[in-house]
Amino acid sequence: MSSKQIGTQMDAALFYGPNKLRIENVNMPVPSVDSIVLKVLSCSVCSYDVRTYRHGSFKVNPPVILGHEICAETIDTYCGENFSVKANQRVSVYPVIPCLYCWYCKHKKYNLCSNLKELGSSLNGGFAEYISIPKAIFEIGGIVPVLDSTSNEEASLIEPLACCVNGLSQIKNNDFESIIIIGDGPIGLMQLMLLKKQFPDRQITMIGKIRPRLDMARKLGADYIYEIKDEHFFTNPRDHIHGPMENVAPNLIFVSNNDIRSLKVALQLVNKNGNIILFSGVKNPSNMKNHDNDVLIDANFIHYNQVTVTGSFSSNPQNLSEAMELVNSKEINIRNLISNTFSLKNLLEALDTSESLKGLKSIINKFD
Ligand SMILES: [Zn+2]
Ligand SMILES: [Zn+2]
Repeated sequence: MSSKQIGTQMDAALFYGPNKLRIENVNMPVPSVDSIVLKVLSCSVCSYDVRTYRHGSFKVNPPVILGHEICAETIDTYCGENFSVKANQRVSVYPVIPCLYCWYCKHKKYNLCSNLKELGSSLNGGFAEYISIPKAIFEIGGIVPVLDSTSNEEASLIEPLACCVNGLSQIKNNDFESIIIIGDGPIGLMQLMLLKKQFPDRQITMIGKIRPRLDMARKLGADYIYEIKDEHFFTNPRDHIHGPMENVAPNLIFVSNNDIRSLKVALQLVNKNGNIILFSGVKNPSNMKNHDNDVLIDANFIHYNQVTVTGSFSSNPQNLSEAMELVNSKEINIRNLISNTFSLKNLLEALDTSESLKGLKSIINKFD
């Protein structure tokens, strides 16, 4: 694949603030002692991108290029201290830039770095023809080669799948009988595929609002699906999904959408010795007050029922390699989740499609 000369211009989608995003011709990034330039092959739209486009984010200081689910191609050979890569190699990119000296980095928990920076958030991301990658990402194994049998589009889904692999690694105790996933989006469906593979004998219930997504959940192995049709569900969810709740035994619940009410639902559905994993950030529309994201936790409920609530954020390079392996070997058929592809100049349409929950994953895979 031909690449442009360094020093020329490229197309990029610049985010200037809520609802302000323009495709512009800007200077290409230039490689330096600390960074390497890659050619972007595909970048998928995350709900984080949609949320940031609409409302901004505390992490983002515009103007910046969004997009952190990236498949790219190397332009030159690069040999570092712990890593070497040849030219024209397709790779999936770990989007976290670690400081390498804080406690978390020293213990390889890069996603929790005290000085966390992220591509497509605090630094320019993948909604552009080229991207500058700090060498630290190469050095920690955050550049994962893509095998021939995996397409560019599939490779851009390795990052969210890696986050789900990390989510499963937060399960502290395998002593549960059933699983509930709240959220029928691409993340919930990825978790479903991983959980089905890891715990084939546990009953899995998928709760969501979108019929075609729930039908997909069925196809991917959910034992029960529950479609939320009205607001009554949120006041007493146990009355609505009583079938799967008849089994009174420890359960594992993934909260995999950005509606804060889902955590409240999880706290009502969790059984004694159950585990709740809070996977998603919650949306923060401008009409919400500061404390609307707070959930009052009943201390006695947690104590007497011995319930665990765990967070899960982003991933580690190791999770990316594991996710790549699962996709390469077709153990996880990620292709099921690819529904819409767009060129960069139609990024707004891709964000709209993702926001209106049409299909599953929207992916930018053409850049000229
Ligand atoms: Zn994402
Ligand atoms: Zn750090």
